[in-house]
Amino acid sequence: MSTTASADHAPNSRRDTSNRDASATIPGRTEVSRRTWRTPLVRMDGPVNAHSHAFHRLLRGRTHGGGGSFWTWREAMYSAAASLTPESYERLATAVFAEMATAGWTAVGEFHYVHHNPDASPYPDHAMERALARAAQAVGIRLVLLDTLYLAGGFDQPLSSEQARFGDGSAAAWLERRAALDAALAGESDLVSVGAAVHSVRAVPVDELRRVAAELPPEVPLHVHLSEQPKENADCLAATGRTPTGLLADVGLLSPRLSAVHATHLTDEDVALLGDARVSVVMCPTTEADLGDGIGPARALADAGATITLGSDQHAVLDPFLEMRALEHGERLASLTRGRFTPAELAAAATTGGRRSLGLDGPAGNPADDATNHASAHATTGHAANHPSTDHVLLHPDSARTAGSLPDQLPLTASAQDVASVVVGGREIARDGAHVSLGDPGDLITAYLRDHPLPAPSSKGVSS
Ligand SMILES: [Zn+2]
Repeated sequence: MSTTASADHAPNSRRDTSNRDASATIPGRTEVSRRTWRTPLVRMDGPVNAHSHAFHRLLRGRTHGGGGSFWTWREAMYSAAASLTPESYERLATAVFAEMATAGWTAVGEFHYVHHNPDASPYPDHAMERALARAAQAVGIRLVLLDTLYLAGGFDQPLSSEQARFGDGSAAAWLERRAALDAALAGESDLVSVGAAVHSVRAVPVDELRRVAAELPPEVPLHVHLSEQPKENADCLAATGRTPTGLLADVGLLSPRLSAVHATHLTDEDVALLGDARVSVVMCPTTEADLGDGIGPARALADAGATITLGSDQHAVLDPFLEMRALEHGERLASLTRGRFTPAELAAAATTGGRRSLGLDGPAGNPADDATNHASAHATTGHAANHPSTDHVLLHPDSARTAGSLPDQLPLTASAQDVASVVVGGREIARDGAHVSLGDPGDLITAYLRDHPLPAPSSKGVSS
């Protein structure tokens, strides 16, 4: 999102007619729509959701009571994962991506590890991955499918039965499957590309991490969950004598193409390593708050040289403005200081930072990346066919939330409710809270839940 907001006037008469038609059955709406659409709107670059697990949406509103921890929440998450089939996941992801798009997210990095049947046997022809690609195409959101390597249930622990469908057996097998997926999806859609992820240092043994560092093509964006929980750090230190960040450095994975997700519990040395390597760091502030993870050192990481980006992760809420705001609010609460990130920096995290993390402006670390990293430039080398800088949202500047706001301070006042229009690749995909072809995302998720009732919440205790 450009912080130099520009006015964009009302849409053409066809859209005005559409608004009148749509409002005919909703008394009182016509006047509001006419007023808001005649007002100059504020244009912002398209927010990029750099960390998503689409199926975690099933947990919204069902895990927030009764206490617990990240680890008890994870048991409920496994139960949700067990229910997925390619057919159901395509429908669920379509609903989630539609909500994401109407909230203003124009691109998503889907950290995807539900690859196989529950018994670990593979689906034919990348069925789960194709389901997610079709969902993104149906919505019109830009998707970078971060196909994830997941091999272990913890340090020196095999996968549990509920994790079996996540696993590929070895880094070599995953590298082969990921490359085949990349080839299978190549050319199918300008909206979809295939990236990579290693789930975490607890889920991928050290030798397998080394193999990824050596053999994953260098232009592929790579993501990893990093130090979300103190327990991961303690287990890593006990098993390897290194922090998770130190371990990633040892195996050769710290580089500009790496995105570290969460990066919550870091030592000063970790911060320096991540900054010096010019990694991207994907903060997920609403998720980290909801799960009680802690507040990561985002300002220190940015000062050290990392690029800060944002993700909604578990989708307890889907709202790019709430992520921007929560990033700054966490910093203020921890530091007792206002203005830790300027509104322009928050906007850059949601836009240029996310594009860098997902490789939408070409591989991170190339010469153009310096401009992307340190300013709000619109680098378009590399994957120029994606034209990411054409993705944008138009915002209502005169809602109850935004009236009176200086345009460049909207990251601290607006919400997804203020998104008037969402444009990806030159095509409008959402307008005033509804998807242009799929309608109200609430109807989509309600219909999904009607046909796929959720299992009862797990009562299992903490598990590592
Ligand atoms: Zn995650």
